[in-house]
Amino acid sequence: MDSIKHCSVIIIGAGISGISAAKQLADNGVEDVVILEASNRIGGRIRKEQFAGVPVELGAGWIAGVGGKQSNPVWELANRAGLRTCFSDYSNAHFNIYDRGGKIFPSGIAADSYKKAVDSAIQRLKDEVDNTNEPPKYKEVEPISTFIDFGEREYLVADERGYEHLLYKLAETFLLTFDGEILDNRLKLNTVVREIQNSRSGVTVKTEDGSIYEASYVVLSVSIGVLQSDLISFRPPLPRWKTEAIEKCDVMVYTKIFLKFPSKFWPSGVEKEFFIYAHERRGYYTFWQHMDNAYPGSNILVVTLTNDESKRVEAQSDQETLREAMEVLKDMFGPDIPDATDVLVPRWWNNRFQRGSYSNYPIISNNKVARDLKDPVGRIFFSGEHTSERFNGYVHGGYLAGIDSANALLEEMTTEKGRKTDISQPFLLEPLLALTGSLTLPQTEKVSNLHKYELPRQIFLGSNLGMPEAIL
Ligand SMILES: Cc1cc2nc3c(=O)[nH]c(=O)nc-3n(C[C@H](O)[C@H](O)[C@H](O)COP(=O)(O)OP(=O)(O)OC[C@H]3O[C@@H](n4cnc5c(N)ncnc54)[C@H](O)[C@@H]3O)c2cc1C
Repeated sequence: MDSIKHCSVIIIGAGISGISAAKQLADNGVEDVVILEASNRIGGRIRKEQFAGVPVELGAGWIAGVGGKQSNPVWELANRAGLRTCFSDYSNAHFNIYDRGGKIFPSGIAADSYKKAVDSAIQRLKDEVDNTNEPPKYKEVEPISTFIDFGEREYLVADERGYEHLLYKLAETFLLTFDGEILDNRLKLNTVVREIQNSRSGVTVKTEDGSIYEASYVVLSVSIGVLQSDLISFRPPLPRWKTEAIEKCDVMVYTKIFLKFPSKFWPSGVEKEFFIYAHERRGYYTFWQHMDNAYPGSNILVVTLTNDESKRVEAQSDQETLREAMEVLKDMFGPDIPDATDVLVPRWWNNRFQRGSYSNYPIISNNKVARDLKDPVGRIFFSGEHTSERFNGYVHGGYLAGIDSANALLEEMTTEKGRKTDISQPFLLEPLLALTGSLTLPQTEKVSNLHKYELPRQIFLGSNLGMPEAIL
């Protein structure tokens, strides 16, 4: 148990967005910050684990969007930290499609069906958009901003220190560290936030171990999946526009399963790095990658599952998953291949501090969902990859979202300071606030500035204070 009297800002979550928000605040003179992190490490969905002697990335693996006109800020961080990366060439994947009998689809047919599948998916998306009565400017299926802005290349992080090394490099610029470890008392690991009370004068945060933290502001950087769950409750409850945006945002589940073999039996070479298994059941152990390029001699294969298949596999034993994966590999490479000696199945969906892998905005949302996800509610500022309008779902989205939310908060802090000096007369409703305790946020109106606060009707209507409604 810990009890802190007061600090300027509490940052909830020490993933890339929480750490970049904290750094941006520190760079601008706000160092009176506490970072509350539920797990026992920083990094969140950037997570390295040793598997069969090799550091594998259970979460983000690629720096996506490199080689374009603008430089991807995460690529810059990686270069500065000297992170080892490997270029990933997916373009050959459709020449390596295996059927259930182990035959490779002839390249012409494979390329043709691949193109047909992509065209038909685009047409389906367009039809879906056409069937709504959206104004014409939203009728186009938007290309992915990451590749437009930063370029089409993707690099796999293959470094002993892991992708998470970038977070440590950011953290050491403003937190006390020694020998690669963060020793700073402002970072509280194993601290699970369960309740946030938002009031006109400040924010109170309660944690699972019964501690109470108080601050002027909160930056909430937990994932969209966590926001959709009941892990954190809000007092007063979040307004409707915010909860609707949270509900509307899809949570994608993406699972990389790692398999270790005593020897290699798959074709090697850069152009064979990615291969596809064609099965009538959609998404059934479809997308494979060998790790020979990243870690030569490691004899590790990775298979990627998504959404329903991810959830199905998370619910069963690792041994069952291993059995299924071996069956698929035997279909592709014959019955005589060696059995895997080890398997690693990450469980992002069942992790209560994640509840999924990344956000996906609904196709037709006019950017409203993105804006509503990001806009503050009173003293709570929202961050995280899901608040990045252009780059949600990516590490650089999280990184830039952290900077954006810190900048919005810095602006609000300056405005609030100005207001405090301006006000010579006490605010008319102040005595009422004292009477009603700290519950002072509106339920219906979007509040992005504290001076827009209204008094919530339900406090008075339900509290027998006997105030005439006209005063509200
Ligand atoms: C399997 C997988 C593969 C991916 N692949 C890529 C990729 O190749 N390239 C790419 O760019 N992106 C990829 N991503 C996405 C990328 O990892 C995320 O967009 C990014 O890391 C999100 O950072 P964040 O700070 O927004 O959230 P997070 O990293 O989730 O940080 C939020 C933090 O909040 C903490 N938290 C949650 N609840 C509480 C609570 N109640 N109290 C206190 N703390 C709490 C969590 O423990 C976590 O540390 C992948 C993600 C996954 C899962």
